[in-house]
Amino acid sequence: MTQTQALTKTLVFPLDVQSGNESLLHDARLECRRVFNEVLRLNYDGWDWDEIEDVVEQNADLVQNTAQRIIDKAFDALNNYYDNDDWGRPWYKHETFPLRMNYGEGYNLFLEDETVRFRISAKPYNHVKGELRGTQDQFNLLTQAMKDDDWHVGTAEALCRNGREELHVTVTNETAEVGAKTAAETVIGVDINEDCVALAALTESGIEDSVVIDYPEIKEERHRYFTMRKRMQEAGQTTFNDVFRDKEQRFVHDQLHTVSRRVVEWIQRFDSPVIVFEDLEDMRDDIEYGTRMNRRLHSLPFAKLREFISYKAAWQGIPSDDVDPEYTSQQCPVCGHTERANRHKKRFKCRDCEHQDHADRGAGVSVAQKWLRKQEDRNVPALNTLPQVRKWELRRQASGPVDGPTVTHHTDRGHQTDGVSGVSDQSTGRSSGA
Ligand SMILES: [Zn+2]
Repeated sequence: MTQTQALTKTLVFPLDVQSGNESLLHDARLECRRVFNEVLRLNYDGWDWDEIEDVVEQNADLVQNTAQRIIDKAFDALNNYYDNDDWGRPWYKHETFPLRMNYGEGYNLFLEDETVRFRISAKPYNHVKGELRGTQDQFNLLTQAMKDDDWHVGTAEALCRNGREELHVTVTNETAEVGAKTAAETVIGVDINEDCVALAALTESGIEDSVVIDYPEIKEERHRYFTMRKRMQEAGQTTFNDVFRDKEQRFVHDQLHTVSRRVVEWIQRFDSPVIVFEDLEDMRDDIEYGTRMNRRLHSLPFAKLREFISYKAAWQGIPSDDVDPEYTSQQCPVCGHTERANRHKKRFKCRDCEHQDHADRGAGVSVAQKWLRKQEDRNVPALNTLPQVRKWELRRQASGPVDGPTVTHHTDRGHQTDGVSGVSDQSTGRSSGA
C-alpha cells in the first residue's frame, strides 16, 4: 500500500564553463548582491514595498525574473525579521549572492547524448554556456525530471563554492510514492535534542535495535557564534553580524544534513518502517509546558532535523508520522510507570521497576510504543530488557568540510561505517536483542 506526494530535491552540478565568459557569473552575483542590498536600504529608508519592487527591478542589470527572485529573497529575509523576535535584522551582504533563476527563463538545460549542456542568462542578452559535471545519480534524476511528465525542473542557483562554479537545480517529483503509515511493520521512534538524536526500532514483537547519534559540535558552535555576536554588538560592530550568522547557519545546516543521511541509512535496514516524531508544533503557545520542551522548541535543530529526516526518508518511500509528546520522556518503556522524577538529565531510572536507561533512547522507545498504542489492532510488545545503548558521534574533520572520509570501525552488528561522513562509531558493548 502506498500513497503519493510531491517531493522536491536539490541536485548539485559543478559547471564546466565554456572559455571566454567565466567572469560573467561572478559579475552577475555581484549584481545580485547589489539588488539584495538595495532592497534592504530602501526598506530601512522607509520606502513602500511595491515601490521598492518596481524601482529595483527596473534598475537591475539582470534578466527580469532573476531580479524578481533576488528581490523576493530580500523580502523573505525582512519578513522573517519582522515576524520573529529572535531573528536578527538582515544586514547588507558583503559576500557575493547566488544567482537565482527560473527554469526556461533565467537558465536552460539541454539533454544531449552523453551530457547535459546549460545556458545561464547571467545578464540580459549575455549568456554563459557549458556542460554540467556531476555524479551519475544526479544526472539520472535530472534526466528523469526533464523527460517525465510527473516531474518538473524548478529554480536553480548558480554559485561559487570552494572556488568551484556550481549549479544547484531543484527537481520535483509530483507523484512520489511513499509507503502507507498504517501498513508499517517497524516503528522508528525518534527523540531529537539539542545535542543528539535517539532512534529506537520497535515491532509488534519487540525492540529490534536502537542508537543515539551525538552531535555536540552543533550546540558548541551555536553557543560560540552567539557569544561572538553579542560581544560585537556590545562593541557597536554590527557590520559583520550577517556574515557570522550565515557561517553559523551553513555549519549547522551541513551537520544536520550529515546526521539526517545517517539516520535514514540506519532506518532503511528495517522492514517497512514508519518514522515517528513527537509533534511539538501545537505546544508552542503552552507556557506551562516544561523547560525541557521549551528548550527543544526554540532550539533550531529540532524542526530542521525533523524536516531533513522526513524528506530524505520520503525519497526512499518511507513515511513519517507524529504522536503527542506529553510524558514521553518521563514514561518507563518497561513497566509504563510515568513520573517526572524518573528522568534526570540524560539519565533515566524508573521509580517503580528500577529500569535504567539513557534518557533520550528511552524517550525514542516511548514514542514508538505510543504510536503503536494509537493504532487499531496493534500489539504493543512488553519489553523486559533493552539492547545496550549504541552511540555514534558526529565530529567535524580537523580541516575541510564535514563530508570528508572517516574512521572505519566495525560495530557490534557487523554494520560498517566505512565512508560515512564524519561519523565515528563509539559502540562498546554488545547489543542483546530483547
Ligand atoms: Zn519501570
